[in-house]
Amino acid sequence: MAGLSDLYQEILLEHNSKPRNFKTVDDANQTADGYNPLCGDQITLYLKVIDGVIDDVGFQGTGCAISRASASMMTQSIKGQSVEKAKEIFDAFHYMITEPGGDLDLDTLGDLETLSGINEFPTRIKCAVLAWHTMNAALSGESEVTTE
Ligand code: ZN
Repeated sequence: MAGLSDLYQEILLEHNSKPRNFKTVDDANQTADGYNPLCGDQITLYLKVIDGVIDDVGFQGTGCAISRASASMMTQSIKGQSVEKAKEIFDAFHYMITEPGGDLDLDTLGDLETLSGINEFPTRIKCAVLAWHTMNAALSGESEVTTE
């Protein structure tokens, strides 16, 4: 995708071809379905939360490379984190994607910063945030969310 640096593209494509935590979690206790009608991306997210910590996470679904790579990176970044921290990462990520030029919380974002170039592509932003909104919904006890 023009505009994203080669490194970013490489990371995106790598996550897309080998998504992390692309699985169901049989004993998940918080799940949600997310849908991005603009692009047709669909995700089901499974979270196993024990004592306020995300012990396991998995996702299934179909969608474009960005939605898939973003979901993969999201699961990687929240696994083993407290629910509180996961919401912090959500906020930092959401801010990064929706407020181009803003100060990024790089300590919280880590590798997720590689997705920051997405904010130059307004039509793809919803692809990138879908997994995150789905996580937020699951943690808030909602079973369904759309990006519209
Ligand atoms: Zn998409």
